[in-house]
Formats: sequence, structure tokens, C-alpha cells
Amino acid sequence: RNVTGDQIRKAMEHQLNPFTKQPHSAQYRRILEARKCLPVFSQMDEFLEMLSKNQIIVVVGETGSGKTTQIPQFVAYSDLPHTTGKLVACTQPRRVAAISVARRVADEMDVPLGKHVGYSIRFEDMTEPGSTFLKYMTDGMLLREAMNDNELSRYSTIILDEAHERTLATDILMGLLKGLAKRRADLKIIVMSATLDAFKFQSYFSLTHSCQDPSPAPLFKVPGRMHHVEVFYAQEPEPDYAEAAIRTVLMIHRAEDPGDILLFLTGEEEIEDACRKIKLEVDDLINTDPLSVGPLMCVPLYSSLPPQQQQRIFDAAPKPTQEGYPPGRKVVVSTNIAETSLTIDGIVYVVDPGFSKQKVYNPRIRVDLLIVSPISKASAQQRAGRAGRTRPGKCFRLYTDKDFVSELQEQTYPEILRANLANTVLELAKLGIKDLVRFDYLDAPAPETLMRALELLNYLAALDDDGELTPLGALMAEFPLDPQLAKMLIVSPEFGVSNEILTITAMLSVPNLWLRPPDQRAAADQAKALLAVPEGDHLTLLNVYNSYWQNKSDRSWAWNNFLSARALAQADNVRQQLLRNMEKFEIEIVSLGDARQRNIGIRKALVCAFFMQIAHREGEKGSYLTVKDDQIVTLHPSCSLEIQPEWVLFNEFIFTKRAYIRTVTEVRPDWLLELAPGYFDLSMLPDGETKRALQRMTNKRGGDGANSHSGKGDKGKRKT
Ligand code: ADP
Ligand code: MG
Repeated sequence: RNVTGDQIRKAMEHQLNPFTKQPHSAQYRRILEARKCLPVFSQMDEFLEMLSKNQIIVVVGETGSGKTTQIPQFVAYSDLPHTTGKLVACTQPRRVAAISVARRVADEMDVPLGKHVGYSIRFEDMTEPGSTFLKYMTDGMLLREAMNDNELSRYSTIILDEAHERTLATDILMGLLKGLAKRRADLKIIVMSATLDAFKFQSYFSLTHSCQDPSPAPLFKVPGRMHHVEVFYAQEPEPDYAEAAIRTVLMIHRAEDPGDILLFLTGEEEIEDACRKIKLEVDDLINTDPLSVGPLMCVPLYSSLPPQQQQRIFDAAPKPTQEGYPPGRKVVVSTNIAETSLTIDGIVYVVDPGFSKQKVYNPRIRVDLLIVSPISKASAQQRAGRAGRTRPGKCFRLYTDKDFVSELQEQTYPEILRANLANTVLELAKLGIKDLVRFDYLDAPAPETLMRALELLNYLAALDDDGELTPLGALMAEFPLDPQLAKMLIVSPEFGVSNEILTITAMLSVPNLWLRPPDQRAAADQAKALLAVPEGDHLTLLNVYNSYWQNKSDRSWAWNNFLSARALAQADNVRQQLLRNMEKFEIEIVSLGDARQRNIGIRKALVCAFFMQIAHREGEKGSYLTVKDDQIVTLHPSCSLEIQPEWVLFNEFIFTKRAYIRTVTEVRPDWLLELAPGYFDLSMLPDGETKRALQRMTNKRGGDGANSHSGKGDKGKRKT
């Protein structure tokens, strides 16, 4: 690694692109001039020197300083991975960021996306083996790769970006890379963070030289070039932050100088709703008086938005409607994605209601929830910073300064301390890491959460009673799915329904299938009712997919049925990929001819995987009690069941104004005893209506005649 900054700059200015041997385009030169203004660009030499002298370095710098787009390129130019057949990986916590940044960097390097520069996210690999040498990927994908190649031998350099986000996968990768660094002296590791408290990373990756105290990993600091941001607080707490946010955006549009607005909201529905309302209000203002305000372009940004639409955040603000009329403005209404992952130039105003959706796992009741929660002070600071990228800006916080000081915690909790660890524990087991308690975590997870994960995997027979990975568990880890879904796919041939379960799994993996436009709710519900299958939502999903295929030639079928054509196409794509996976591991694709048998087989396969997600109808009308965890829940309004069966299996537990179960299917209690006898051990169930109901049924069947289903033996006790 002796390539100097001078040589790199020369190569960048050269007439020919060193990677494609083609002449550099005009766009390339234009972008290159912009890149030269990024703070990190002027530090290329220092960076290269530090990288050549150290195996691990920590990089910090304000969002927008050029870390994500430039540093991997510096590495690529100095490392020349294409000459050695190795790759540079740069991880991102978010799919959207991986795609968007890869596209940008491909443009910056003047190469086609997917060839020299690519990205890899779950179910979508935009790389070309043999050609791609710079790969942006989600942290989860790199973790999956590590399972099959513990040495990550394809990579010469691994860059963990957005480390401050502390996602579960990044945290685990840090632990793995720390160990790997000792085994692979040739591997370079770069940890990048947008917050300045990098010391935690530096000391975690400290080097122990013999007879010396460990010295922290060196820090490469990109100087911020932030303009002043004036922060305004609400006078009084806002009872409805979404409404207050819209009001504030309109106030800025009416009263403030030109400059784009970034509004943070928590999720798709809220964002689409706000965009709609803001547009209506502005149209109203312009209709009454065309001179009152300029045109406003409202752009949503959230992860399930189609990629082309995500690109719209980079469009320029609209021009005045006529010369001399008020100037136009762009409003980006975004989830946390725009907090640090993506930089939108031209933002001058930030509206921060102070909330984000956070994943929270409750190990006591074994429930994963996405909860709208107050953000941390660190997040609030990052958000405000978005306003000062190009010139002095303003940040409107929709909470009081008192609440900022007293209510917001300092840092966002690392995900490992609040997430469901089932997936991670299975991945670690596959990686051969047995002692989960002594794994070198940056922050160790709660023992209860680890125990819950081990317990689930043990019940699923992925881990045996000694915590060892079973052959079934090893196979489950090969699927890019949650353990339950993987298990369901693998056991489905035993029930003769792997063809159907494959479809259901694919359909469960795509978001936003059903369209429900606000002005056509009734029609949408009617269309859905026509596709519904009485026994439940999983079968409905299957029916939707099959109908989609039968009507493939009719391009408006999805639209006419209020279904997202994109989601269906995506499900189709996921299905193809899972199918290839099944073929690879010789899992048979079978289907039962008899419709009734098929229907039962499907639901039995569901029970085999989701037996821990069963609820029993109880008490007042429409309410259910989850088995063992005793949570009172109701069927979600989206549920397609016609009646309220006594026993149901659910895919999701969600909590909005009350607790709901969503994607629900009717099951029979004897299946529970037959297919998961270890879990439904009557002697272990707490007293209550559920236990009595199961008891009644056992008595009716004449004692405990339940057969243990293959591979999922009875296991009341577990060695610890
Ligand atoms: P960091 O990782 O330090 O937050 P980035 O490398 O993501 O910074 O971005 C650096 C700069 O590159 C941004 O300030 C912006 O000007 C430009 N940029 C990044 N992505 C795009 C894009 N998709 N379109 C236009 N400009 C972009
Ligand atoms: Mg970045």
C-alpha cells in the first residue's frame, strides 16, 4: 500500500479512468470538482498515511463531510483491490443508504453500478463477481457472509460505517472483526462514526503490545464545517406532534427566507399523511393569493419507498410559478434515515418533533415491538445539524427546552440492549461462537434476552439442550430469514406443502402489500374481502399470490384489487431466491392435490414454527389471551378472519392504541399438542382458561396421546 495522495489525485485527474480504461466523462469531472470541496478530500494524504501504519482506525466527522462516499474510494485507489482480486466492503445499517450511496459512488467513479461498484442487501445482490471491488452492503449481509467464511477472506478492507447507530449487526461485526484482526494481519478495518464520542470504539479496538498498556486505536478526525444553527423550542408541550409539525412547516414556508426544509416523522403512514396535508394547505394558500407563497414540493423518504422515488430527495426545489413570484421550496419528510445516513444538500430548516420509531423487545412477554419513542439528545443534535450544512440554518424543536434537558436521554440505547437476539444467537452459533456470555461485546446484552433467544432456538430444535447447533439449526442459518420462518420452510415438505409455504414466506417478507388510499377505503376493503380465505391471513396471502399469477397477463389486476404491484413483484423475486436456496439444500418442493388436506398441511407447518405465537379467545367479545405470556390482545382490523376462532396463530404483535395481533390464522388445539408437545407441556402451563381448554381436549382424546413431531422432541428442562 504505497500509493500516495499525489498519485491518486493524478489518477483522478487523468484522461483515462484507471478502472475502466475509458475516458472520464464530463459528469465525472463536474462531480470531482464538488468532491474536492468536501472536508475529507483535503485530508487524503493524512488518511492514507494513518491507514498504511495501522490495522484498525476510527474515523469521525460530521454528517456530510464525505466519509461514506470518499473514504472507501481512497481505500480503493490506494489498495487497488481489482489487481489482487479482493474487495473493499463498506457496511450501512440501512438498505436505503447502501443503495443510494453505491449509486452515488458509481457515478463519482464513472463506472456502471453493479459492475466495479455495487451493493448487496437482503434479497438483492447488485454486484458482479470478479469485477466488483467496492461493495456497499447492509451490516446484516456482511454478518451472513461471515457465517460461511469466518475469515472474510474475500475482503482486503472492511469499513463499518455509521457505527454510532449501534445496530445489532454492526455491534456483532465489531466483535468478530476484533478477533479476526489478530488472525488476519493483512486485513484493514475502519470504523466510521458521525458522533464525536469515538473513544469507546478506540479503546474497544485498542492494541495490546507486549509489556505495554493497551493503546487505543488511532482516531482520524474530519473537521466539521458546520454553520451556526439557531435552535427554537416549543413554548408548551405539543399534544399532537404531527399536527404541530405541519403547522411549523407552513409557518416556515410563509415567513422564512428561501431554503429547503427537513421534517422528521416516524413512519410511512405519518409521512404520507403529512405530505398530503401540507400540499393541500399550500395549494389553498396559492389559490387564494398567488403572491402569498411560492410552490412547495413535498418529498417523502422512508425505507419501503421504491428506490426511484427515494432519489427525488435530491431534486432541486421548484422554480417560482412566474417570474417575480415567491420562490419555491422543497420539504423532505423523512424517517431517521435523513438523520445521519443520507445527506441532502440545501436544507436550511429542520423541524424536529423529537420522536422516532424504535425496535424494542420485551423478553418477558417475548414480543418485538416498533414503538414511537422520544429520541436522544445526541439524535436531536444530529437532526439540528442537518440545517447548517450549506449555510446558517434554523431548527424548530417541537418540545420545550425543559423537556430537552430533563426528558431526553443522552444517547440512543444500542440495539443489542433492546432487540430480540434469536437471529443473532443462531448466527453466532453458526459462526462457531458457543460462549455467548463471554463474547467480546462492545456492550453486553441482557442475560434475560440471551436466555430467551436460546430458549426459542431450543424449542425450534435449532440448538440442542447443550446449546449446540443441530443440523436443523445449521440449515436454518443458511436462510436469510427469521428462525421461525426458516424452520417453517425446512419442515414444510413433511406436511406436503413446501410449495405453498414458500409462497407464504415470500409474501410475509415484503412490506405494504395492501393499498388503502384514504379516499377509497371502503372499495379497498371490499376488494380485500374478495381475496380473503376464511381460515386466515396466511392462506389469504397465498391466495393473493396465486391469483396474481393467474392474472399475470392483466397489467391492471393488482391495481384493480388494491394491491401493490411492486410488492407482488418483490414477493415473486424473494420466492425465486428462496426457491434456489431450497434446491441447494435439497429441500423438496411438494404440494398436496387435495385442497382441504393442503389447507390443513399449511396450517400445521405454521404451527411447527410459530407455536410460541398462539392466542386463545377469552373473556369479552373479540379479545384473546396469548398463551403463556398472558397478554390481552385483539385481532387487528386488517385481519381477514370471518369469525373469531377459539385458537389462533399470529405472525406479529403490534401495539398502537391497544395491543393487536396481525396476520392471524385459525389453528386447532390438538395440533399444538401434536406438533409442539415440549412447549405445550400441560404440567408446565400456568393455570388459566388456556390450560383448562387444552386439558379438556386432552381428556377428550383419552389421555396424553400426543406424538412428538420429528426433530422437535419433548424438552421440559434444559441444562444451563
Ligand atoms: P458523510 O458520510 O460524511 O455523512 P457523505 O459521503 O455521505 O458524507 O456525503 C458527502 C457529500 O456528497 C454530501 O454532502 C453531498 O454533497 C454529496 N452526496 C452524497 N450523496 C449524494 C447523492 N446521492 N446525490 C448528490 N450528492 C450526494
Ligand atoms: Mg455517511
